[in-house]
Amino acid sequence: MADTSFDIVIIGSGPGGYVAAIRAAQLGFKTAIVERSHLGGICSNWGCIPTKALLRSAEIFHYMKHAKDYGLSAENVSFDPAAVVKRSRGVAGRMNTGVGFLMKKNKISVIWGEATLEAPGRFSVKSSPTPAPSGALGPGTYQAKHIIVATGARPRVLPGLEPDKKLVWTYFEALSPDIMPKSLLVVGSGAIGIEFASFYRTMGAEVTVVEVLPQILPVEDAEIAGFARKQFEKQGMKVISGAKVTKLEKKADSVTATIDDGKGTQTITVDRVISAVGVVGNIENIGLEKLGVKTDRGIIVADPYGRTNVPGIYAIGDVAGPPMLAHKAEHEAVICVEAIKGLHPHPMDKTMIPGCTYCHPQIASVGLTEAKAKEAGRDVRVGRFPFVGNGKAIALGEDQGLVKVIFDRKTGQLLGAHMVGAEVTELIQGFVVAMNLETTEEELFHTVFPHPTISETMKEAVLDAYGRVLNM
Ligand SMILES: Cc1cc2nc3c(=O)[nH]c(=O)nc-3n(C[C@H](O)[C@H](O)[C@H](O)COP(=O)(O)OP(=O)(O)OC[C@H]3O[C@@H](n4cnc5c(N)ncnc54)[C@H](O)[C@@H]3O)c2cc1C
Repeated sequence: MADTSFDIVIIGSGPGGYVAAIRAAQLGFKTAIVERSHLGGICSNWGCIPTKALLRSAEIFHYMKHAKDYGLSAENVSFDPAAVVKRSRGVAGRMNTGVGFLMKKNKISVIWGEATLEAPGRFSVKSSPTPAPSGALGPGTYQAKHIIVATGARPRVLPGLEPDKKLVWTYFEALSPDIMPKSLLVVGSGAIGIEFASFYRTMGAEVTVVEVLPQILPVEDAEIAGFARKQFEKQGMKVISGAKVTKLEKKADSVTATIDDGKGTQTITVDRVISAVGVVGNIENIGLEKLGVKTDRGIIVADPYGRTNVPGIYAIGDVAGPPMLAHKAEHEAVICVEAIKGLHPHPMDKTMIPGCTYCHPQIASVGLTEAKAKEAGRDVRVGRFPFVGNGKAIALGEDQGLVKVIFDRKTGQLLGAHMVGAEVTELIQGFVVAMNLETTEEELFHTVFPHPTISETMKEAVLDAYGRVLNM
């Protein structure tokens, strides 16, 4: 007879869910994971990874078109949209298979279907239309001492901008487009909107981005976001901030959007619209109300260990609130399971979570922006270093970038780091580690950075904050 009773069950197999399952299995818990759609969740199948695969194609296309800049020639550079998408879907498929492998390796049972909480310690699973992976358990009623809800999030829908899968896309259609639009309107300039804007612009579409706030990439430092905006505009992207899309009029194969900036309206007609106005937690139809689990504006309320107000029910990842990022979900997963085990993990510190946007140029940050540090009453010292002063960036043909660091003037503590330019999503981790170790400027002065690397811009920005910059 199939197992129906576990120590820990996780609902949802995204980066929150599957990492929680692995850590639980490592700690000796009898563990199962429930999934209704794709192992690996949004991140592997419709988020982080397939977008990066598309952006990689765009990056190579960009370099091929600029081959001359490097003394090379590439004639008649073109692309096959179906092949670009096929590669991205193939990459997502590999991730999906990989999560299945990890479940088997760690002896984690996979229960296939849609889970609903019935009572603390009990949940039921209904069948799902998506085919189950081999060896998965099926619908039924199951028991678990601890149930972790990791059901993720879905696209937010704004009235008047309802996605229709044909003309008005969400990230699902934008990741597997039926056509390569010649013109595109992206509503929303967070990481998801900007990544798609960057991909489609590089592939040749006329792209307009509309952002309701005055600043694009609203969570980033204003100076970094402003720098990135200039680069996007240089690439031919049109950016309208402080404006709302108020109406979409659909024709057979185009959409006319009305954009209101508070002073007046304008209309643009495009082939396709991408609605990228954020995501909302999947909190519906999972029995939260029945058990009295507290929710707030579309997310489950949980403490820094993932505990909800109902003993035995936990929440991690996107469904437990912002920042809605895969690495935050993974980290919460480990903390939650270790706390269940009684290992006293460090609670989640949301001020140390880096954020990355993989557009061209890339953007990466951690900690407080200059504005937020000042709002918090900190007396700050700010350092900056542009990529034009970095040999490696010049050698790469990538001299447009900027690093900005924020220190506490009194203590020398690094409060935040903000970067725009080539490969900064790989570099930011240096500052993340530094901040976790509560580093000060002195320790960074003592740190040797390899030459030639773009990472030297990080050291120079630190030196600049203290009037000691060398290469500028
Ligand atoms: C286009 C795009 C690009 C992104 N890029 C990045 C990036 O570069 N970096 C980054 O950090 N983040 C990125 N994100 C965000 C990232 O994907 C999410 O933060 C991450 O997937 C959240 O993980 P999770 O485990 O909370 O949930 P999810 O990955 O959303 O997984 C939840 C899973 O739960 C399942 N589920 C839901 N309800 C039930 C139920 N009742 N029963 C059974 N199963 C259920 C769902 O089918 C899903 O598979 C991106 C998101 C998008 C959309």
